[in-house]
Amino acid sequence: MLQGARHVHISALHEASYNSKIDVDIIELRTSADLESSKIDGLIMPGGESTTMRLMGNSDISGLMPPLLKFIRENPKMPVMGTCAGAIIMADPQDGKSPLVDASISRNAYGRQTNSFEAMIYSSLLKRSFPGIFIRAPKFQSIGNDTYAIANYDEQIVGVKKTNRIALSFHPELSQDTGFHQWILEQAKTYAGVTK
Ligand code: GLN
Repeated sequence: MLQGARHVHISALHEASYNSKIDVDIIELRTSADLESSKIDGLIMPGGESTTMRLMGNSDISGLMPPLLKFIRENPKMPVMGTCAGAIIMADPQDGKSPLVDASISRNAYGRQTNSFEAMIYSSLLKRSFPGIFIRAPKFQSIGNDTYAIANYDEQIVGVKKTNRIALSFHPELSQDTGFHQWILEQAKTYAGVTK
């Protein structure tokens, strides 16, 4: 909840909860203390501006980024969805430790804000097409180490998955389609059942 399109994710989760009939409790993470006191079964890392998120998350006021990355690494089966800037942080956490998905990613690779666009993509995870909203989006350059493509726009990879973590270069929360949010609710429900 430090920066970016995080409130829209909350709306999308409520919508997905209604559509899938899976109850959801939203836990808003701003500081390292929020993480310690929470029972988390799934995580969303929103889009926005990854540089700002890193600065905020590593600041004394928040301190969220280091324990958040540690928590995700320690729980490889926990579902995580990173969108756009969130995907950049997953692929390139810049803390000297292993990335959360093994993919090289290039920021702002489609150009400036005026080059932002919408296009139908195909997701093998959802097994259907999906409205992709790309806002100063990054591009996945290459993927490796148990990471595979789960979404394509023409020939380009726009979504990747490793263990139960997905990183998307677009903004599913800004579309009317709750498919990816339903995915994370379903996964979180299963994960909660396994871990509780
Ligand atoms: N361009 C942003 C970055 O580099 C990402 C854009 C987005 O999240 N919509 O962090």
